Amino acid sequence: MIIDLRQVALTYQSPDGEVEALRDISFGMEEGEFVSIVGPSGCGKSTLLSVIAGLETPTGGTVTVDGEPVTAPSPKVGFMPQRDHLFEWRTIWSNVTLGLQIRHTNTPKEQAHVHTLLDRYGLAEFVGKRPSQLSGGMRQRCALIRTLASDPCILLLDEPFSALDYQTRLTVSADIYDIIRQEHKTALLVTHDIAEAISLSDRILVLSARPAVIRSIHSLDALQGLSPLERRDTPAFHTVFNAVWKELNADV
Ligand code: ADP
Ligand code: MG
Repeated sequence: MIIDLRQVALTYQSPDGEVEALRDISFGMEEGEFVSIVGPSGCGKSTLLSVIAGLETPTGGTVTVDGEPVTAPSPKVGFMPQRDHLFEWRTIWSNVTLGLQIRHTNTPKEQAHVHTLLDRYGLAEFVGKRPSQLSGGMRQRCALIRTLASDPCILLLDEPFSALDYQTRLTVSADIYDIIRQEHKTALLVTHDIAEAISLSDRILVLSARPAVIRSIHSLDALQGLSPLERRDTPAFHTVFNAVWKELNADV
């Protein structure tokens, strides 16, 4: 198990009192798996990623990544946030190598790795451009390459496509899916889009309203081997969609 959560709980202490975000979350992921998390807004999805990333300390339970207890952020875990956070005053090259610069690991070997990624995913000729000169989809690819630059084995993606319009989101998510699979990463994706979760993942974790508990886990074995777009045309897609939709609306 590359990620292992046992009875994880997290209660925030805020000036207005306690906010219980996570309750009794037990869940594991195998290496190379792609899992999506869906749940009502404010239920604790980002909190769950923060706990795995070592950015928040759970108030109960244990979290291990690659067999080691999580106590702080680790280079094994890459985080891709909702907005691409590319800096306009930096070139694409200087944006995608930002993490390497911050960690002082901007070595020729690491740079060669970034060049390979940019080449492989069609961005090599844009290294000297500014983010505003790129399409939304290309910016998202840059953000992913920046996350991949330090070669993490796990990717945590927090609603990475939500700023894109529907058509762009379909192609970009398929694109990002291909990159993650080709690079053999383990991926945990938070999304509010059920269709996106079904088209990309091996399993879907449905969370309840806050405090988040695991309402159900859907395995998508029936869709294995199909591309994200092909999946959308199958009966299994619609069956899972309806089941997840009902679960998400059970709280309302
Ligand atoms: P989601 O990502 O599912 O929308 P979050 O994990 O961001 O939800 O937040 C879950 C709950 O915890 C929300 O009610 C949010 O307001 C609260 N929360 C998040 N971060 C903090 C914090 N640092 N301090 C206090 N409460 C927080
Ligand atoms: Mg969130």
